Amino acid sequence: MHIGHVGIVGAGMAGAVAAHNLVKAGFVVTVIEKEPQCGGRARSTLVNGALPFFQDHGGQFILDHYEDVMPLIKETGIADDMIEIEPYTATFRGDRFRRINRKNSGTVYSEELVSPRACSQVENAYRHMAQRVGGLDPNRYTAWYEFDNGSADWWFRRSYGEEGAAYLAEPVFNGLFFHAMQYAPEIYAAWMISHLARRDRWHIMRRGTQSIPEAGLRCVRDVRLNTPVLEIGIGAEGKALVRTADETLMLDAVIVTIPPPEAAGIISAPTVRQKLFLKNTHYWSTIVINLLLSSRLSDPNLNNAAMAMIPAEERCFFHNCPAAFSLESGKHKAIGAQELLGTHLMSHSAERLMQEPDDIIAQAVIKDLAHFVPDMPHKLRDVHITRWPLAIPKRSPGELLELTRFWWDQEIQTSPIYIAGDSTSFPTFGGAAWSGKKASNIIAKRFCR
Ligand SMILES: Cc1cc2nc3c(=O)[nH]c(=O)nc-3n(C[C@H](O)[C@H](O)[C@H](O)COP(=O)(O)OP(=O)(O)OC[C@H]3O[C@@H](n4cnc5c(N)ncnc54)[C@H](O)[C@@H]3O)c2cc1C
Repeated sequence: MHIGHVGIVGAGMAGAVAAHNLVKAGFVVTVIEKEPQCGGRARSTLVNGALPFFQDHGGQFILDHYEDVMPLIKETGIADDMIEIEPYTATFRGDRFRRINRKNSGTVYSEELVSPRACSQVENAYRHMAQRVGGLDPNRYTAWYEFDNGSADWWFRRSYGEEGAAYLAEPVFNGLFFHAMQYAPEIYAAWMISHLARRDRWHIMRRGTQSIPEAGLRCVRDVRLNTPVLEIGIGAEGKALVRTADETLMLDAVIVTIPPPEAAGIISAPTVRQKLFLKNTHYWSTIVINLLLSSRLSDPNLNNAAMAMIPAEERCFFHNCPAAFSLESGKHKAIGAQELLGTHLMSHSAERLMQEPDDIIAQAVIKDLAHFVPDMPHKLRDVHITRWPLAIPKRSPGELLELTRFWWDQEIQTSPIYIAGDSTSFPTFGGAAWSGKKASNIIAKRFCR
């Protein structure tokens, strides 16, 4: 006999973890997803070429400490698909790329990329951050909010000085943070630096990040793709009402994992706290541009470099938007003779370009990248552009308390509607998974009493 029937709206990381957890606890689960594939911002597609590979359209990196993602990966038997990325990053300075061993910040110094003074500033900042954040789970927020009141650029300048900010901002981020730094919120800066302090290992998935939610949802019998939810409300006997174009479901509870700006339009009976939360959660936008090349780039310094990063003042600009770029060699992803170059445009620039046609964005990016990698245009095979108008939830100081109250309220509410997703936690796979687990645990506790 099952304990109850729970609906989950959205088949991203939060929805998959919630569904997996509830099925394990004995619930009947129905997952409803508007897109033809699951994954949400962890979406990946198979790119067919000489050697097919999976291309991530949103999030890509999975960190060791994602406490609710790692067990899912292990339990569902996809741990062998995890690839630890190589410990190298590269930065472009002057006329060439320079390779840095990110596990040894001393290489930055020996490559003469920064002065000893800037290096010691960075080391001090590491220590400071390590002490400050040590032992805290970033997915529970706590100390993170206090950083979120300015740009990451400002935060780096304050922590590392001018020189450190110019040449270290991106390599310090393991070369993995390839958004336009000027506009990145500090919460990200703090988060990324904490991983460096923790010496976390970073992974990508051989079969794309989407393989994680897919694996999580394998145990769910009822997954409905291509099915946008149009309304979520409260029906007879306090049941959760979930309406799609074809039917109206009456469920014991529903977990809504879609971004709040979208959820606000379809939840017809939020609690007072949920209403406030939905109204007050806004998002950064990003555009991800993946350039598929027909062969490796020729610069020997790029061999073994996980990412290539361009210091702020040497970054290319178009339409007034800074573009840094990352590079993955065939070693890190099974793409054989092909290469994948990924560029992220974030927040203000992405906002402005969101409505532009693909070819305008692509042409401008290609022109600017050619400045750094002259032979790249000749090798260009394909361009993929993914727009994320709701990419990353914004946070501001003081919201920590709101968020804590929000979860507390969800624990004691009588409403059958629960809101989860990365906006209710930390804007990463780890945060999304934590929120899915948390919401499903609250429901399990309520029904098993
Ligand atoms: C470009 C980019 C890069 C990132 N890089 C990383 C990274 O490297 N590492 C990391 O940890 N995090 C990264 N992130 C963040 C990470 O992708 C997200 O935090 C996480 O995927 C959010 O998961 P979620 O389940 O909360 O939401 P989502 O993945 O957005 O899931 C919500 C789902 O709801 C569906 N939906 C929406 N409306 C409806 C409706 N009406 N009816 C039914 N379904 C609906 C959506 O289609 C979607 O599938 C990145 C994000 C972006 C955008």
